[in-house]
Amino acid sequence: MHKSFTLALILSLSTFSAFSQRESLDVLYYQNQLDKIYSICEGKLASNPDDIDAKLWMGKAKLKEGKSQEAFDYFEEVSKSKASNIDHKCEAYTGMGSCYFFEENYKKGKSYLQKAFKMEASDASRHDTYKRMLLLGSEQSFKDWQKIESKHFNFYFHPEHEVVNKEIFISERERAYERVNIFFNDNKYNLPKKIDFYIWSTLEYSNQVLKKDIGYVDPLFCVAHTHREQTKGHEITHIISYNTIDIEIESPFITEGTAVHFDLTRKNKLKIAKENIEEINYPDIKVIDMWKNWNSVPRKISYPVAGEFIQFMIREGGKDKFLAFFKNQTFENGQKIYGLEWESMINKFENRINNKDGI
Ligand SMILES: [Zn+2]
Repeated sequence: MHKSFTLALILSLSTFSAFSQRESLDVLYYQNQLDKIYSICEGKLASNPDDIDAKLWMGKAKLKEGKSQEAFDYFEEVSKSKASNIDHKCEAYTGMGSCYFFEENYKKGKSYLQKAFKMEASDASRHDTYKRMLLLGSEQSFKDWQKIESKHFNFYFHPEHEVVNKEIFISERERAYERVNIFFNDNKYNLPKKIDFYIWSTLEYSNQVLKKDIGYVDPLFCVAHTHREQTKGHEITHIISYNTIDIEIESPFITEGTAVHFDLTRKNKLKIAKENIEEINYPDIKVIDMWKNWNSVPRKISYPVAGEFIQFMIREGGKDKFLAFFKNQTFENGQKIYGLEWESMINKFENRINNKDGI
């Protein structure tokens, strides 16, 4: 084999393995398998104490676990290390700024994010920083928003928000917080920080700036981007449930269904689901299919059906079983937690949804 060819092969294989390792760390991070990230990265750091990527991943995982001080130390090390390039430094400053936000030191958080954004890093790194700035309200579009603090929230109102009475708006959300928090942890546990609750003026404007549909929530940072017409409970439920239950496996059918169930609108989700199914002539609902193929079902059907399903689960099996189930939100775990009843529960629910004769 020609030498340069061998070298090229070795290089491409090592690039491939670095790439696949990064990809697998991404997946582990998404799946919340933080212990696996720690063991991979600690192994790498034991053989190379200057492994900057490993330090960044340690920082990200620690922050995801809510250990912001430990996370900060990793990011700070990266920011000072001679082995770091400008992209690493940009990521480290973004990480440090995020830790400050997590600790509600908004001023420092903002200044670190802005420092990261001003670095001459690659477009990809700066783009990640910019997305974090948008999420955490540190981008210049937020400069004229009005901040109002309450017991569990920092509210931020866009100058052209259309909330008629801010006092009522705030007290309604405080009440929603209490109600949802009582369900998930009997009010024993507080969130790691206040909820940063943004109220945008219009959907068009938020879409233009965030490049995302709102309501949009990041439960780790306890942030919600919303508009006036959103329900009182949906976003708050996402944040409280994520932070008070140790979720091992998440599924949108369950997380969204739970947020719909606790939206505190008193809307009849069964009626809405049936009307929408009829309107577009959607085929009969199979719970397992919707659970496993969430994105293939139109939202006007998936959301109310999932909300109704959560209400049904709580009514049939009680709160304690539901909360035990909530940690591992798979269909298979439903079978395990609800035992022999599970199959008949699913049948009963499908009959209710698919029965064409009234509610
Ligand atoms: Zn949602």
